Amino acid sequence: MKNTRLLYCVATLMVVGCVHHSPLTTDWIAAALHEQDSVLADPLLEEIVRDADRRRRQSNPSSGGVPVLPVRCEGFPLPGTGSPGLDWLFAQFRTRGGQTRETIGSYRPPWPWSHAVAQTAAPCVLRVEFSDRRDHSDPVSVANTLIHERVHSFGHAHAHGNKRSPNACDAAYVMGDAAEAILAHRRRLADYDFDAPMCQALCDALNARGMPHGCRRERGLR
Ligand SMILES: [Zn+2]
Repeated sequence: MKNTRLLYCVATLMVVGCVHHSPLTTDWIAAALHEQDSVLADPLLEEIVRDADRRRRQSNPSSGGVPVLPVRCEGFPLPGTGSPGLDWLFAQFRTRGGQTRETIGSYRPPWPWSHAVAQTAAPCVLRVEFSDRRDHSDPVSVANTLIHERVHSFGHAHAHGNKRSPNACDAAYVMGDAAEAILAHRRRLADYDFDAPMCQALCDALNARGMPHGCRRERGLR
């Protein structure tokens, strides 16, 4: 009986006391959209992503650089044949822009301890839903997610499941991470805590410009 009551208390705590709700407010969405729009308008984003692509092709010729791996989305056929690459990706951003207030929603992961930040029915779907169990008050981090998911909405699919590690050098991760690094650099956040791992070629491109990145200090990249 004692054990049963304890379990009940723990369960109550989990529901009432331990779940941190951060409902969608237009405040944090507006802040993140502002950061997204400002970084998409900055030529430095394309410069850094293309530099990372070049560096990865040099160090690993069979890697395909920073690969864009689109599937065909209804209504948005790929131009021509073959892999469209970064030219195609940046043309998508120029003509179709980033996320908007209307494309952002929320969802509740079933588990209170879920680490998921956002979900989308990627690829091809524009709508992105943020977990209402996580804090989204850092517009720099949210801007990364918005741009990452926008790349998916153009049709990009990760080649190796949905985990960051095996996909860290693909177009969705590199675009989002490069945007986050530019925004952190603007705020002079030299010790900004990036999600790991970050693509090494992107770290090299950022390091060459004296910008913060997410690779290890002991490799002499800061
Ligand atoms: Zn993704």
